[in-house]
Amino acid sequence: MSKSYGPCDTPGARGLALCEPTLFERSTPGRVGYSLPRVDVNEPPPLPAELLRDEPAAWPELSEVEVVRHFTRLSQYNYGVDSGLYPLGSCTMKYNPKINEDVCRLAGFADVHPAVAHQGLLRLIYELEQFLAEIAGMDAVTCQPAAGAHGELTGMLIIRAYHASRNDPRSKVIIPDTAHGTNPASAAICNYQVVPLKSNEQGLIDPDALAAVMDESVAAIMITNPNTLGLFEENVDRAAHIVHERGGLVYYDGANLNAIMGYTRPGDFGADVLHFNLHKTFSTPHGGGGPGAGPVGVKKHLEPFLPRPVIRKKGRQYALDFDRPQSIGRMRSWCGNVGVLIRAYAYIREMGAAGLKRSSELAVLNANYLRVMLQDLYKVAQDRPCMHEVVFTEKGLPNDVPMLDVAKRLMDYGFHPPTIYFPLVVKGAMMIEPTESFEPESLDAFITAMRDIYREAQENPALLHHAPYNTVVRRLDEVRAARNPKLTADME
Ligand SMILES: *Cc1c(COP(=O)(O)O)cnc(C)c1O
Repeated sequence: MSKSYGPCDTPGARGLALCEPTLFERSTPGRVGYSLPRVDVNEPPPLPAELLRDEPAAWPELSEVEVVRHFTRLSQYNYGVDSGLYPLGSCTMKYNPKINEDVCRLAGFADVHPAVAHQGLLRLIYELEQFLAEIAGMDAVTCQPAAGAHGELTGMLIIRAYHASRNDPRSKVIIPDTAHGTNPASAAICNYQVVPLKSNEQGLIDPDALAAVMDESVAAIMITNPNTLGLFEENVDRAAHIVHERGGLVYYDGANLNAIMGYTRPGDFGADVLHFNLHKTFSTPHGGGGPGAGPVGVKKHLEPFLPRPVIRKKGRQYALDFDRPQSIGRMRSWCGNVGVLIRAYAYIREMGAAGLKRSSELAVLNANYLRVMLQDLYKVAQDRPCMHEVVFTEKGLPNDVPMLDVAKRLMDYGFHPPTIYFPLVVKGAMMIEPTESFEPESLDAFITAMRDIYREAQENPALLHHAPYNTVVRRLDEVRAARNPKLTADME
């Protein structure tokens, strides 16, 4: 068995986490960490000899406390919203109230077999669909999609089915250059040709530029509002009008609903179809790769194309309706990631309409607070009030320090670094999304760290270049990691 995992060979990765002994390496023959109850059923007949292995499997042999220490230590190497400010732009890492965890684990929910049309669960999902429709100004919602990108795929398939039903198949989708990378990917997967739309000087959709590319071959535009520069698209209703006039539809990427819910509704400014990111806006823990949920809302004219089954209410009973001849079909097993749906439902019920509105207000206030407190040192990409996230650029940093070094150094100050080098339209971007969850003291500590790092950039740029120093894993050789990735742990 090898003594080290790949990343330990990387210069800089001298930290402990990846190099410390594994449970296999800690194993001591004969040590036992479990005790099983006596078998209280008849011993089954022995397995046929040819199915038995020659030697016992080399499982690690450890005491219980060794195993507990190992995993507890690993958990402490991680950084999460529960550890501190996690201002990862575009990802909305907000606090997830612990009561949501209790609620989704209630036996009445957690122990239901997915194939059972359980009245309580159906009612919960039905009501969640109605809440989401109300929040976004849409007519109907499906909770099937399992993530934002999956919602985009669902929405684009609905758009495709809509045009096909009118015998007007179209070939293109217009996407502004500030879009999240999943937007062009979703359009391309549905066989659409992507037409990029350049933003204007203010980082917004330019209606004249849109009118110039919009014609009868365009199926839809995909709009994110606020956009990925954290700016509200002021011309969004004009843009929607231009697209509708020539028979196109408006796909609305609702991942940034966190900034506007309670104040305005995409359905009121032209969206025909949109997705929600429950794991962002509605407080499901995420960041470890899921599970998430990306429900899709549509206006009346797209309702027949929703994935099936849809949940129907007849009297006081809820039922699954499969009789949907124009449906695009199933997008996921059963009704989606139910645990996530329950958390979102609990969050919406706890917050109420006023609470959701207040959360938008605080998310926007916090981002603007960071903007105003840092803009004398860090140049903002667009010099104007932002929504829930603020984008700085590396332009003008002392000694040409790259944004990567600032982000790495933030870890030494105990913060999760914000998103960097996205959106792509801003060179050396740092995109900060504080969310509504953090109290002023955390924001102030973050501001102090950013200001201290600026001073370090003036006085000792080399210090930043090798950061972080206090983390378990130090700076990785990213070029080598990308060119020569080791995707498995070799266990010779
Ligand atoms: C996060 C995000 C997505 C994709 O959502 P996933 O759940 O990660 O698939 C799409 N658009 C925007 C603007 C986002 O922030």
